[in-house]
Amino acid sequence: MTSVSNRPRVAVVGGGWAGCAAALTLAEAGAAVTLFEAARTLGGRARTVELDGQRLDNGQHILLGAYRHALRLTERVHPAGTQSGLWRLPLVLDQPPDFRLACPHLPAPLHLLAGILGARGLGWRDKLAAARWARAALGTAETPEEQTVSELTCGQPQKLRAMLWHPLCVAALNTPPEIASARVFLDVIRGAFGGSARASDLLLPQRELSALFPEPAAARVIELGGEIRLASRVTGLAASRHGVTLSTRDETSTYSHVILAVAPQHLPALAAQVAALEPAGRAVARYRYQPIATAYLQYDPDFALAGPMLALANGPAQFAFDRGRSHGQRGLLALVASAATNLPADWLDRAEAQLRRIADPGPARWRKRIVEKQATYSCVPDMVRPPVHTPHPRIFLAGDYTAGPYPATLESATWSGVQSASSLLETL
Ligand SMILES: Cc1cc2nc3c(=O)[nH]c(=O)nc-3n(C[C@H](O)[C@H](O)[C@H](O)COP(=O)(O)OP(=O)(O)OC[C@H]3O[C@@H](n4cnc5c(N)ncnc54)[C@H](O)[C@@H]3O)c2cc1C
Repeated sequence: MTSVSNRPRVAVVGGGWAGCAAALTLAEAGAAVTLFEAARTLGGRARTVELDGQRLDNGQHILLGAYRHALRLTERVHPAGTQSGLWRLPLVLDQPPDFRLACPHLPAPLHLLAGILGARGLGWRDKLAAARWARAALGTAETPEEQTVSELTCGQPQKLRAMLWHPLCVAALNTPPEIASARVFLDVIRGAFGGSARASDLLLPQRELSALFPEPAAARVIELGGEIRLASRVTGLAASRHGVTLSTRDETSTYSHVILAVAPQHLPALAAQVAALEPAGRAVARYRYQPIATAYLQYDPDFALAGPMLALANGPAQFAFDRGRSHGQRGLLALVASAATNLPADWLDRAEAQLRRIADPGPARWRKRIVEKQATYSCVPDMVRPPVHTPHPRIFLAGDYTAGPYPATLESATWSGVQSASSLLETL
Protein backbone atom coordinates (compact mmCIF):
# COMPACT_ATOMS: atom_id res chain seq x y z
CA MET A 1 0.00 0.00 0.00
CA THR A 2 1.25 3.52 -0.84
CA SER A 3 1.71 5.73 2.19
CA VAL A 4 0.86 9.43 1.97
CA SER A 5 2.93 11.89 3.91
CA ASN A 6 1.29 15.07 2.68
CA ARG A 7 -2.38 14.13 3.04
CA PRO A 8 -4.19 14.89 -0.24
CA ARG A 9 -7.87 15.90 -0.27
CA VAL A 10 -9.36 13.92 -3.14
CA ALA A 11 -12.85 14.09 -4.64
CA VAL A 12 -14.11 11.04 -6.49
CA VAL A 13 -16.99 11.87 -8.85
CA GLY A 14 -19.19 8.81 -9.43
CA GLY A 15 -20.08 5.96 -7.07
CA GLY A 16 -20.15 3.04 -9.50
CA TRP A 17 -17.75 0.12 -9.06
CA ALA A 18 -14.85 2.17 -10.51
CA GLY A 19 -15.44 5.16 -8.20
CA CYS A 20 -15.87 2.94 -5.14
CA ALA A 21 -12.68 1.00 -5.99
CA ALA A 22 -10.79 4.29 -6.38
CA ALA A 23 -12.21 5.77 -3.15
CA LEU A 24 -11.36 2.61 -1.19
CA THR A 25 -7.79 2.49 -2.53
CA LEU A 26 -7.22 6.17 -1.72
CA ALA A 27 -8.78 6.01 1.76
CA GLU A 28 -6.74 2.93 2.65
CA ALA A 29 -3.60 4.79 1.55
CA GLY A 30 -4.43 7.65 3.93
CA ALA A 31 -6.01 10.22 1.60
CA ALA A 32 -9.00 12.32 2.71
CA VAL A 33 -11.70 11.16 0.29
CA THR A 34 -15.08 12.65 -0.59
CA LEU A 35 -17.16 10.63 -3.05
CA PHE A 36 -19.98 12.36 -4.94
CA GLU A 37 -22.71 10.18 -6.46
CA ALA A 38 -25.58 11.67 -8.47
CA ALA A 39 -28.02 8.84 -7.60
CA ARG A 40 -29.44 7.89 -4.21
CA THR A 41 -27.83 4.43 -4.46
CA LEU A 42 -24.23 3.40 -4.96
CA GLY A 43 -23.32 0.97 -7.73
CA GLY A 44 -24.05 2.82 -10.99
CA ARG A 45 -24.68 0.29 -13.74
CA ALA A 46 -24.34 -2.60 -11.26
CA ARG A 47 -26.70 -1.59 -8.47
CA THR A 48 -29.62 -2.75 -6.37
CA VAL A 49 -33.06 -1.51 -7.40
CA GLU A 50 -36.33 -1.72 -5.53
CA LEU A 51 -39.38 -2.42 -7.69
CA ASP A 52 -42.77 -2.62 -5.96
CA GLY A 53 -41.11 -3.64 -2.70
CA GLN A 54 -38.89 -6.28 -4.40
CA ARG A 55 -35.12 -5.94 -4.02
CA LEU A 56 -33.62 -6.77 -7.41
CA ASP A 57 -30.62 -5.74 -9.50
CA ASN A 58 -30.70 -3.33 -12.42
CA GLY A 59 -29.49 -6.33 -14.42
CA GLN A 60 -28.25 -9.82 -13.67
CA HIS A 61 -24.43 -9.86 -13.63
CA ILE A 62 -21.90 -12.67 -13.92
CA LEU A 63 -18.17 -12.54 -13.33
CA LEU A 64 -15.36 -14.76 -14.56
CA GLY A 65 -12.60 -16.28 -12.47
CA ALA A 66 -10.25 -14.17 -14.62
CA TYR A 67 -11.69 -10.94 -13.15
CA ARG A 68 -8.91 -10.77 -10.55
CA HIS A 69 -9.38 -7.20 -9.37
CA ALA A 70 -13.15 -7.35 -9.04
CA LEU A 71 -12.94 -10.64 -7.14
CA ARG A 72 -10.12 -9.53 -4.85
CA LEU A 73 -11.85 -6.26 -3.95
CA THR A 74 -15.20 -7.95 -3.39
CA GLU A 75 -13.57 -10.45 -1.05
CA ARG A 76 -11.65 -7.73 0.78
CA VAL A 77 -14.64 -5.58 1.76
CA HIS A 78 -16.51 -8.38 3.50
CA PRO A 79 -15.34 -9.21 7.03
CA ALA A 80 -13.08 -12.25 7.37
CA GLY A 81 -15.10 -15.40 7.93
CA THR A 82 -18.16 -14.12 6.04
CA GLN A 83 -19.08 -15.10 2.50
CA SER A 84 -17.95 -12.68 -0.21
CA GLY A 85 -21.33 -13.13 -1.84
CA LEU A 86 -20.01 -14.73 -5.01
CA TRP A 87 -20.88 -18.29 -5.91
CA ARG A 88 -18.05 -19.95 -7.86
CA LEU A 89 -19.06 -22.58 -10.41
CA PRO A 90 -16.99 -24.41 -13.02
CA LEU A 91 -17.82 -23.10 -16.50
CA VAL A 92 -20.91 -24.78 -17.92
CA LEU A 93 -22.73 -23.52 -21.00
CA ASP A 94 -25.99 -25.42 -20.93
CA GLN A 95 -28.58 -24.81 -23.61
CA PRO A 96 -31.09 -27.63 -23.15
CA PRO A 97 -31.85 -29.77 -25.06
CA ASP A 98 -29.42 -28.90 -27.88
CA PHE A 99 -26.04 -28.05 -26.40
CA ARG A 100 -23.94 -28.51 -23.28
CA LEU A 101 -20.28 -27.70 -22.72
CA ALA A 102 -18.77 -28.21 -19.28
CA CYS A 103 -15.12 -27.49 -18.47
CA PRO A 104 -13.82 -29.93 -15.83
CA HIS A 105 -11.24 -28.81 -13.26
CA LEU A 106 -8.14 -29.80 -15.23
CA PRO A 107 -5.06 -27.64 -15.88
CA ALA A 108 -5.69 -24.99 -18.58
CA PRO A 109 -6.13 -25.30 -21.51
CA LEU A 110 -6.84 -29.03 -21.09
CA HIS A 111 -10.09 -28.13 -19.35
CA LEU A 112 -11.29 -26.27 -22.47
CA LEU A 113 -10.17 -29.08 -24.72
CA ALA A 114 -11.94 -31.65 -22.53
CA GLY A 115 -15.04 -29.41 -22.48
CA ILE A 116 -15.10 -29.13 -26.27
CA LEU A 117 -14.44 -32.81 -26.90
CA GLY A 118 -17.12 -33.83 -24.39
CA ALA A 119 -19.69 -31.26 -25.54
CA ARG A 120 -23.23 -32.44 -26.22
CA GLY A 121 -24.80 -31.34 -29.48
CA LEU A 122 -21.62 -31.16 -31.58
CA GLY A 123 -20.41 -33.78 -34.06
CA TRP A 124 -16.77 -34.89 -34.12
CA ARG A 125 -15.98 -32.63 -37.05
CA ASP A 126 -17.32 -29.59 -35.15
CA LYS A 127 -15.45 -30.59 -32.01
CA LEU A 128 -12.15 -30.89 -33.82
CA ALA A 129 -12.73 -27.58 -35.61
CA ALA A 130 -13.50 -25.90 -32.28
CA ALA A 131 -10.49 -27.44 -30.54
CA ARG A 132 -8.16 -26.37 -33.38
CA TRP A 133 -9.60 -22.87 -33.41
CA ALA A 134 -9.30 -22.52 -29.62
CA ARG A 135 -5.69 -23.73 -29.69
CA ALA A 136 -4.81 -21.20 -32.39
CA ALA A 137 -6.70 -18.42 -30.57
CA LEU A 138 -4.84 -19.06 -27.31
CA GLY A 139 -1.51 -19.04 -29.14
CA THR A 140 -2.06 -15.95 -31.33
CA ALA A 141 -0.12 -12.97 -30.07
CA GLU A 142 -1.33 -10.33 -32.52
CA THR A 143 -4.84 -9.80 -33.87
CA PRO A 144 -5.55 -7.21 -36.54
CA GLU A 145 -7.02 -4.22 -34.70
CA GLU A 146 -9.78 -3.72 -37.29
CA GLN A 147 -11.04 -7.34 -37.30
CA THR A 148 -14.54 -8.17 -36.02
CA VAL A 149 -15.56 -11.35 -34.19
CA SER A 150 -17.62 -12.43 -37.22
CA GLU A 151 -14.52 -12.17 -39.38
CA LEU A 152 -12.41 -13.94 -36.78
CA THR A 153 -14.80 -16.92 -36.62
CA CYS A 154 -15.73 -17.03 -40.34
CA GLY A 155 -13.80 -20.30 -40.90
CA GLN A 156 -15.70 -22.11 -38.15
CA PRO A 157 -18.72 -24.37 -38.84
CA GLN A 158 -22.01 -22.43 -38.65
CA LYS A 159 -23.24 -24.51 -35.70
CA LEU A 160 -20.17 -23.64 -33.63
CA ARG A 161 -20.49 -19.96 -34.38
CA ALA A 162 -24.18 -20.00 -33.49
CA MET A 163 -23.95 -22.12 -30.32
CA LEU A 164 -20.57 -21.24 -28.88
CA TRP A 165 -18.46 -18.37 -30.19
CA HIS A 166 -21.20 -15.84 -30.92
CA PRO A 167 -23.13 -16.36 -27.65
CA LEU A 168 -19.79 -16.02 -25.80
CA CYS A 169 -19.09 -12.79 -27.68
CA VAL A 170 -22.49 -11.29 -26.82
CA ALA A 171 -22.21 -12.43 -23.19
CA ALA A 172 -18.70 -11.04 -22.72
CA LEU A 173 -18.70 -7.91 -24.90
CA ASN A 174 -22.44 -7.07 -25.05
CA THR A 175 -21.83 -6.32 -28.71
CA PRO A 176 -23.07 -8.27 -31.77
CA PRO A 177 -20.29 -10.36 -33.40
CA GLU A 178 -20.75 -8.49 -36.71
CA ILE A 179 -19.33 -5.31 -35.12
CA ALA A 180 -17.50 -6.60 -32.01
CA SER A 181 -13.73 -6.24 -31.67
CA ALA A 182 -11.91 -9.54 -32.33
CA ARG A 183 -8.92 -8.32 -30.31
CA VAL A 184 -10.93 -7.70 -27.14
CA PHE A 185 -12.85 -10.97 -27.63
CA LEU A 186 -9.56 -12.87 -27.85
CA ASP A 187 -8.26 -11.06 -24.77
CA VAL A 188 -11.29 -12.37 -22.85
CA ILE A 189 -10.84 -15.89 -24.27
CA ARG A 190 -7.14 -15.85 -23.34
CA GLY A 191 -7.88 -14.42 -19.88
CA ALA A 192 -10.48 -17.12 -19.21
CA PHE A 193 -8.82 -20.13 -20.85
CA GLY A 194 -5.13 -19.32 -21.19
CA GLY A 195 -4.15 -19.12 -17.51
CA SER A 196 -5.22 -21.11 -14.49
CA ALA A 197 -8.14 -23.54 -14.85
CA ARG A 198 -10.11 -21.50 -12.32
CA ALA A 199 -9.95 -18.38 -14.52
CA SER A 200 -12.82 -19.75 -16.60
CA ASP A 201 -15.06 -20.31 -13.55
CA LEU A 202 -18.32 -18.42 -13.50
CA LEU A 203 -19.11 -16.39 -10.41
CA LEU A 204 -22.72 -15.61 -9.70
CA PRO A 205 -23.63 -12.88 -7.20
CA GLN A 206 -25.50 -14.14 -4.17
CA ARG A 207 -26.13 -10.67 -2.78
CA GLU A 208 -27.76 -7.69 -4.46
CA LEU A 209 -25.18 -5.80 -6.49
CA SER A 210 -24.85 -2.66 -4.32
CA ALA A 211 -24.32 -4.87 -1.25
CA LEU A 212 -21.70 -6.96 -3.04
CA PHE A 213 -19.04 -4.26 -3.28
CA PRO A 214 -20.06 -0.56 -3.51
CA GLU A 215 -21.84 -0.29 -0.14
CA PRO A 216 -19.25 -2.16 1.98
CA ALA A 217 -16.47 -0.26 0.16
CA ALA A 218 -18.19 3.03 1.02
CA ALA A 219 -18.65 1.92 4.64
CA ARG A 220 -14.90 1.29 4.85
CA VAL A 221 -14.16 4.72 3.34
CA ILE A 222 -16.35 6.34 6.02
CA GLU A 223 -14.63 4.27 8.73
CA LEU A 224 -11.32 5.70 7.50
CA GLY A 225 -12.61 9.27 7.82
CA GLY A 226 -13.94 9.79 4.27
CA GLU A 227 -17.33 11.11 3.18
CA ILE A 228 -19.93 9.69 0.80
CA ARG A 229 -22.40 12.19 -0.65
CA LEU A 230 -25.38 10.57 -2.33
CA ALA A 231 -27.84 12.49 -4.55
CA SER A 232 -24.97 14.94 -5.27
CA ARG A 233 -24.47 15.48 -8.98
CA VAL A 234 -21.30 17.39 -9.85
CA THR A 235 -22.14 19.97 -12.50
CA GLY A 236 -19.15 22.35 -12.37
CA LEU A 237 -15.45 21.55 -12.76
CA ALA A 238 -12.67 24.16 -12.75
CA ALA A 239 -8.97 23.36 -12.46
CA SER A 240 -5.85 25.35 -11.69
CA ARG A 241 -2.26 24.41 -10.91
CA HIS A 242 -3.13 24.38 -7.20
CA GLY A 243 -6.39 22.47 -7.05
CA VAL A 244 -9.67 21.44 -8.63
CA THR A 245 -12.98 23.08 -7.75
CA LEU A 246 -16.22 21.09 -7.98
CA SER A 247 -19.75 22.45 -7.83
CA THR A 248 -22.96 20.64 -7.03
CA ARG A 249 -26.42 22.20 -6.59
CA ASP A 250 -25.63 22.77 -2.89
CA GLU A 251 -21.92 23.53 -2.61
CA THR A 252 -18.65 24.50 -4.24
CA SER A 253 -15.43 23.06 -2.79
CA THR A 254 -11.80 22.81 -3.81
CA TYR A 255 -9.79 19.57 -3.64
CA SER A 256 -6.14 18.82 -4.21
CA HIS A 257 -7.06 16.14 -6.81
CA VAL A 258 -10.12 14.75 -8.55
CA ILE A 259 -10.92 11.34 -10.03
CA LEU A 260 -13.74 11.49 -12.57
CA ALA A 261 -15.35 8.05 -12.30
CA VAL A 262 -18.49 8.79 -14.28
CA ALA A 263 -19.85 6.62 -17.09
CA PRO A 264 -18.44 7.46 -20.54
CA GLN A 265 -21.76 8.99 -21.62
CA HIS A 266 -21.44 11.49 -18.74
CA LEU A 267 -17.80 12.42 -19.26
CA PRO A 268 -18.05 14.89 -22.19
CA ALA A 269 -20.18 17.42 -20.21
CA LEU A 270 -17.57 17.60 -17.42
CA ALA A 271 -14.53 17.29 -19.70
CA ALA A 272 -15.67 20.27 -21.80
CA GLN A 273 -15.07 22.53 -18.77
CA VAL A 274 -11.30 21.90 -18.55
CA ALA A 275 -9.16 22.38 -21.69
CA ALA A 276 -6.79 19.53 -20.79
CA LEU A 277 -9.70 17.06 -20.70
CA GLU A 278 -11.21 17.99 -24.06
CA PRO A 279 -9.36 15.30 -26.11
CA ALA A 280 -10.61 12.53 -23.79
CA GLY A 281 -14.11 14.03 -23.83
CA ARG A 282 -14.10 14.16 -27.64
CA ALA A 283 -12.85 10.56 -27.98
CA VAL A 284 -15.51 9.25 -25.63
CA ALA A 285 -18.28 11.33 -27.26
CA ARG A 286 -17.85 9.10 -30.34
CA TYR A 287 -18.84 5.92 -28.45
CA ARG A 288 -22.03 4.08 -29.33
CA TYR A 289 -23.97 2.08 -26.74
CA GLN A 290 -25.69 -1.28 -26.41
CA PRO A 291 -28.74 -1.99 -24.26
CA ILE A 292 -29.29 -4.92 -21.90
CA ALA A 293 -32.83 -5.93 -20.96
CA THR A 294 -33.63 -8.00 -17.90
CA ALA A 295 -37.01 -9.62 -17.25
CA TYR A 296 -37.82 -10.78 -13.72
CA LEU A 297 -40.54 -13.42 -13.53
CA GLN A 298 -41.93 -14.73 -10.28
CA TYR A 299 -43.27 -18.27 -10.44
CA ASP A 300 -44.44 -20.67 -7.78
CA PRO A 301 -41.75 -20.74 -5.04
CA ASP A 302 -41.37 -24.49 -5.51
CA PHE A 303 -40.27 -24.06 -9.11
CA ALA A 304 -36.52 -24.22 -9.82
CA LEU A 305 -34.50 -24.36 -13.02
CA ALA A 306 -32.37 -27.45 -13.74
CA GLY A 307 -29.27 -25.32 -13.02
CA PRO A 308 -28.40 -21.87 -11.69
CA MET A 309 -27.94 -20.51 -15.22
CA LEU A 310 -29.24 -21.92 -18.51
CA ALA A 311 -28.71 -20.62 -22.05
CA LEU A 312 -31.78 -19.86 -24.15
CA ALA A 313 -32.06 -20.01 -27.95
CA ASN A 314 -34.29 -18.69 -30.73
CA GLY A 315 -35.54 -15.51 -29.14
CA PRO A 316 -34.51 -12.22 -27.55
CA ALA A 317 -33.07 -13.67 -24.30
CA GLN A 318 -29.73 -15.50 -24.13
CA PHE A 319 -29.73 -16.66 -20.49
CA ALA A 320 -32.10 -17.56 -17.66
CA PHE A 321 -30.88 -17.27 -14.06
CA ASP A 322 -32.52 -18.93 -11.08
CA ARG A 323 -32.51 -16.31 -8.28
CA GLY A 324 -33.89 -18.93 -5.90
CA ARG A 325 -30.63 -20.83 -6.17
CA SER A 326 -28.37 -17.78 -6.03
CA HIS A 327 -30.23 -15.29 -3.81
CA GLY A 328 -32.77 -17.44 -1.96
CA GLN A 329 -35.56 -15.64 -3.89
CA ARG A 330 -37.48 -18.87 -4.55
CA GLY A 331 -39.29 -19.15 -7.85
CA LEU A 332 -37.81 -15.90 -9.18
CA LEU A 333 -36.07 -16.05 -12.56
CA ALA A 334 -34.10 -13.37 -14.41
CA LEU A 335 -34.06 -13.61 -18.21
CA VAL A 336 -31.37 -11.53 -19.85
CA ALA A 337 -31.26 -10.11 -23.38
CA SER A 338 -27.83 -8.61 -24.14
CA ALA A 339 -26.96 -6.41 -27.12
CA ALA A 340 -30.72 -5.86 -27.17
CA THR A 341 -31.08 -3.27 -29.92
CA ASN A 342 -34.40 -3.43 -31.81
CA LEU A 343 -36.17 -5.41 -29.08
CA PRO A 344 -39.69 -6.21 -30.27
CA ALA A 345 -42.51 -4.70 -28.20
CA ASP A 346 -43.55 -8.19 -27.04
CA TRP A 347 -39.99 -9.25 -26.08
CA LEU A 348 -41.03 -10.23 -22.57
CA ASP A 349 -43.67 -12.67 -23.94
CA ARG A 350 -41.16 -14.03 -26.40
CA ALA A 351 -38.49 -14.47 -23.71
CA GLU A 352 -40.99 -16.29 -21.52
CA ALA A 353 -41.88 -18.54 -24.48
CA GLN A 354 -38.15 -19.38 -24.81
CA LEU A 355 -38.16 -20.43 -21.17
CA ARG A 356 -41.30 -22.56 -21.59
CA ARG A 357 -39.56 -24.55 -24.31
CA ILE A 358 -37.11 -25.89 -21.70
CA ALA A 359 -39.11 -25.81 -18.44
CA ASP A 360 -42.64 -25.82 -17.13
CA PRO A 361 -42.75 -23.10 -14.49
CA GLY A 362 -46.57 -22.65 -14.45
CA PRO A 363 -48.16 -19.21 -14.69
CA ALA A 364 -46.06 -16.15 -13.74
CA ARG A 365 -47.34 -14.39 -10.59
CA TRP A 366 -45.70 -11.14 -11.62
CA ARG A 367 -43.33 -9.90 -14.29
CA LYS A 368 -41.08 -6.84 -14.23
CA ARG A 369 -38.64 -5.57 -16.78
CA ILE A 370 -35.63 -3.27 -16.64
CA VAL A 371 -34.09 -2.04 -19.87
CA GLU A 372 -30.74 -0.29 -19.49
CA LYS A 373 -30.49 1.57 -22.79
CA GLN A 374 -26.82 2.50 -22.38
CA ALA A 375 -25.72 -0.60 -20.48
CA THR A 376 -22.26 -0.67 -22.06
CA TYR A 377 -20.39 0.99 -24.88
CA SER A 378 -20.26 -1.00 -28.14
CA CYS A 379 -16.92 -2.76 -27.95
CA VAL A 380 -15.89 -2.24 -31.59
CA PRO A 381 -12.51 -2.36 -33.37
CA ASP A 382 -10.31 0.75 -33.21
CA MET A 383 -11.99 2.24 -30.12
CA VAL A 384 -10.00 4.97 -28.43
CA ARG A 385 -9.90 4.22 -24.71
CA PRO A 386 -8.17 7.00 -22.78
CA PRO A 387 -5.60 6.26 -20.06
CA VAL A 388 -6.43 6.96 -16.39
CA HIS A 389 -4.03 9.91 -16.22
CA THR A 390 -4.91 13.07 -18.12
CA PRO A 391 -2.73 15.98 -19.26
CA HIS A 392 -3.92 17.81 -16.11
CA PRO A 393 -1.71 16.65 -13.22
CA ARG A 394 -4.54 16.88 -10.67
CA ILE A 395 -7.33 15.16 -12.62
CA PHE A 396 -7.59 11.41 -13.28
CA LEU A 397 -10.17 9.22 -15.00
CA ALA A 398 -11.67 5.92 -13.88
CA GLY A 399 -14.31 3.72 -15.43
CA ASP A 400 -14.91 0.63 -17.52
CA TYR A 401 -13.99 2.57 -20.67
CA THR A 402 -10.39 3.54 -19.79
CA ALA A 403 -7.53 1.71 -21.53
CA GLY A 404 -7.40 -1.97 -20.59
CA PRO A 405 -7.66 -5.46 -22.01
CA TYR A 406 -11.27 -6.23 -21.12
CA PRO A 407 -14.56 -4.80 -22.42
CA ALA A 408 -17.10 -2.94 -20.26
CA THR A 409 -17.19 -5.20 -17.21
CA LEU A 410 -16.91 -5.03 -13.45
CA GLU A 411 -13.29 -6.09 -13.92
CA SER A 412 -12.49 -3.15 -16.20
CA ALA A 413 -14.28 -0.78 -13.80
CA THR A 414 -12.55 -1.96 -10.61
CA TRP A 415 -9.14 -2.33 -12.25
CA SER A 416 -9.46 1.18 -13.64
CA GLY A 417 -10.48 2.55 -10.22
CA VAL A 418 -7.47 0.98 -8.49
CA GLN A 419 -5.14 2.03 -11.31
CA SER A 420 -6.42 5.61 -11.27
CA ALA A 421 -6.02 5.92 -7.48
CA SER A 422 -2.54 4.37 -7.65
CA SER A 423 -1.47 6.75 -10.45
CA LEU A 424 -2.68 9.68 -8.35
CA LEU A 425 -0.84 8.46 -5.25
CA GLU A 426 2.36 8.04 -7.27
CA THR A 427 2.35 11.76 -8.13
CA LEU A 428 2.48 12.83 -4.45
C1 LIG B 1 -27.86 -4.59 -17.24
C2 LIG B 1 -26.36 -4.72 -17.20
C3 LIG B 1 -25.78 -5.98 -17.16
C4 LIG B 1 -24.38 -6.10 -17.10
N1 LIG B 1 -23.83 -7.34 -16.98
C5 LIG B 1 -22.52 -7.45 -16.69
C6 LIG B 1 -21.97 -8.71 -16.34
O1 LIG B 1 -22.66 -9.74 -16.33
N2 LIG B 1 -20.65 -8.76 -16.00
C7 LIG B 1 -19.86 -7.65 -15.97
O2 LIG B 1 -18.68 -7.75 -15.60
N3 LIG B 1 -20.36 -6.44 -16.33
C8 LIG B 1 -21.66 -6.31 -16.67
N4 LIG B 1 -22.19 -5.09 -16.97
C9 LIG B 1 -21.28 -3.93 -17.09
C10 LIG B 1 -20.90 -3.35 -15.72
O3 LIG B 1 -22.04 -3.16 -14.93
C11 LIG B 1 -20.22 -2.00 -15.95
O4 LIG B 1 -19.10 -2.20 -16.78
C12 LIG B 1 -19.74 -1.37 -14.65
O5 LIG B 1 -20.73 -1.38 -13.67
C13 LIG B 1 -19.30 0.07 -14.93
O6 LIG B 1 -18.89 0.68 -13.73
P1 LIG B 1 -18.32 2.16 -13.72
O7 LIG B 1 -18.07 2.50 -12.31
O8 LIG B 1 -17.22 2.28 -14.70
O9 LIG B 1 -19.48 3.08 -14.32
P2 LIG B 1 -20.93 3.36 -13.73
O10 LIG B 1 -21.47 2.16 -13.08
O11 LIG B 1 -21.75 3.95 -14.84
O12 LIG B 1 -20.71 4.45 -12.59
C14 LIG B 1 -20.67 5.82 -12.83
C15 LIG B 1 -21.41 6.52 -11.70
O13 LIG B 1 -21.22 7.93 -11.85
C16 LIG B 1 -22.41 8.58 -11.47
N5 LIG B 1 -22.37 9.93 -12.09
C17 LIG B 1 -22.46 10.23 -13.40
N6 LIG B 1 -22.33 11.56 -13.58
C18 LIG B 1 -22.15 12.10 -12.34
C19 LIG B 1 -21.94 13.43 -11.86
N7 LIG B 1 -21.88 14.47 -12.69
N8 LIG B 1 -21.82 13.62 -10.52
C20 LIG B 1 -21.85 12.55 -9.66
N9 LIG B 1 -22.06 11.30 -10.06
C21 LIG B 1 -22.18 11.05 -11.39
C22 LIG B 1 -23.51 7.65 -12.01
O14 LIG B 1 -24.75 7.89 -11.35
C23 LIG B 1 -22.91 6.28 -11.72
O15 LIG B 1 -23.31 5.82 -10.45
C24 LIG B 1 -23.57 -4.93 -17.09
C25 LIG B 1 -24.16 -3.67 -17.16
C26 LIG B 1 -25.54 -3.56 -17.20
C27 LIG B 1 -26.16 -2.18 -17.22
